[in-house]
Amino acid sequence: MTHTPANPEHAAPGEQPVTMLVPDFPFSYDHFLHHPAGLGHVPEEAHGTEVAVIGAGLAGLVAAYELMRLGLRPVLYEAGSLGGRMKSATFSTAPNVVADLGGMRFPVSCRGFYHYVDRLGLKTLPFPNPLADHTSSTVIELKGERFYAERLDDLPELFAHVARAWDETLDRQAQFTDLQNAIRRRDTAEIKRIWNRVLRRYDDQTFYGFISESPSFADYSYREIFGQVGFGTGGWDTDYICTILEILRVVVTNMDSDQRRIVGGAQRVTDGLWNHAPDDLTHWPAGTSLRSLHGGSPLGAVARLERAAEISDASRRVPGSYAAEVPPLRITDRHGTAREFAAAVITCQSWLLSTTIDTCESLFNQSMWTAIEKSHYMQSSKTFVMVDRPFWKDRDEHGREVFSMTLTDRLTRGTYLLEGEEGEPSVILLSYTWNDDALKWLTLSVKDRVELMIANLEKIYPGLDLRSHIIGEPITVSWESDPNFMGAFKGALPGHYRYHQRLFNHFANHEREPNERGIYLAGDDISFNAGWAEGAVTTALNAVWGVQHYLGGASHPDNPGPGDVFDELGPIDLDA
Ligand SMILES: Cc1cc2nc3c(=O)[nH]c(=O)nc-3n(C[C@H](O)[C@H](O)[C@H](O)COP(=O)(O)OP(=O)(O)OC[C@H]3O[C@@H](n4cnc5c(N)ncnc54)[C@H](O)[C@@H]3O)c2cc1C
Repeated sequence: MTHTPANPEHAAPGEQPVTMLVPDFPFSYDHFLHHPAGLGHVPEEAHGTEVAVIGAGLAGLVAAYELMRLGLRPVLYEAGSLGGRMKSATFSTAPNVVADLGGMRFPVSCRGFYHYVDRLGLKTLPFPNPLADHTSSTVIELKGERFYAERLDDLPELFAHVARAWDETLDRQAQFTDLQNAIRRRDTAEIKRIWNRVLRRYDDQTFYGFISESPSFADYSYREIFGQVGFGTGGWDTDYICTILEILRVVVTNMDSDQRRIVGGAQRVTDGLWNHAPDDLTHWPAGTSLRSLHGGSPLGAVARLERAAEISDASRRVPGSYAAEVPPLRITDRHGTAREFAAAVITCQSWLLSTTIDTCESLFNQSMWTAIEKSHYMQSSKTFVMVDRPFWKDRDEHGREVFSMTLTDRLTRGTYLLEGEEGEPSVILLSYTWNDDALKWLTLSVKDRVELMIANLEKIYPGLDLRSHIIGEPITVSWESDPNFMGAFKGALPGHYRYHQRLFNHFANHEREPNERGIYLAGDDISFNAGWAEGAVTTALNAVWGVQHYLGGASHPDNPGPGDVFDELGPIDLDA
């Protein structure tokens, strides 16, 4: 039930591809990254200046990588493991077989993310989503009724009606086709004209409210089927409570279609950024990488964040810069070691600033603190087993595959089949859930989770001996139970746009109160597309722009950066 084709290679002849021009701030990060003039400069006196980067997930590593390329010295702090929510766990008995615990399928429209995938020379494969071209079969089970499909048209007509109801609703209520065409053309004025109207109209509306007010969804069963199968990856009804704006951003930028996975695991991206020695470095000798700058490991967890008492060498390296006017930031790690930095990029989930990190309150104004505290995070759980072979392709007596990519309203919700490389075992993601569905697994052990998941799947596939194919130990994760995350990703609620906007806009404002300066928030929970790696990449680039300007640098005049065009393209103020 995808809405429109996303893959640039699959766009109709002459049709421009849909890219991640998030309509709140339709800045072409991909053009910015590919421009031959590069991301700009910092003054020579600033070269080698240490900049703290809290968190070595995707945002922290992209920020650190680009700060290093500019000639600065990023100092990464990490409380858990490199990669953060891009973590790929390996099965203990088969180290080449991985389970992507967080990010696992990356839409081709996410050009900022793929800039780094390409730079690192990583290989990708189509992700086996429901009813995708390369997914050999899909089973949809709803209210005990089971539908098997190898192609979209194998499903009963009713499913096509529901898909049409969604398309009609999007066009009628959100001028969807016009907005998406404006994104294709990169017509930023038109994008903002349409989106700003939609934004004002729908900031207070849930996803469920948006469809239930549509005549096309007057029949309750349509809402039920849509919640189960929905668009793209399906299973979106756990998001029914979220703001519809969040969902519109996903569909209009084709984030939920044409997705690929990273061969060898998503963590190859973050590992790659850590190990890569760029050949276009400023200041640093050839061969320098983040790994070499850090002597092989980031520093540990940050315990305290505050402002130093006095201006010191850490901040006054560039006379006349914003940084020279205020004392540096002082960061203390969990072992009690303190260091001072002219600037800091903070990429951990922002809730952690008031929970696990002792953050001096005056570093943010009160309305920023409110935005931080009011962020709403989604829960998410995944459980994987390794299997001897892709047995699901065996055929039963009716000629159907014995097991399929499965969407169900039972506990498991989404089951994905990941074929291994030649000569390697395969993997089944038995269950991928969000919100309430994820909480149902939270208190169970991995063994109990697997037992219950298999029991549920056996009801959909009577007679299938799933257990006989499982080898090795299962892997499970509940992101909300990890103190370094406290949730999987932000899922904004109705009325949250103002909080979103405050967090996102923060990087572009250098005229903050002196005590609030030099801090740059990044990470997907700061972005307008939380839950997607692209948001981590693009907010990291915003933060890099912020640090660069704070230290007296600038973008190249031929390649303005995100903060340079912020007044023109930035998110609107709903109260203005
Ligand atoms: C279940 C799940 C599924 C997802 N699926 C997809 C997908 O299919 N496609 C997609 O594009 N995106 C997906 N995402 C989103 C993607 O994984 C994230 O956007 C991205 O990994 C976030 O990177 P980040 O750097 O912003 O945050 P993080 O990865 O959270 O990095 C922040 C880091 O800060 C560290 N930290 C915390 N506290 C401290 C401290 N006190 N001191 C130092 N460090 C600290 C953390 O350990 C962490 O490593 C998914 C995420 C989850 C959780």
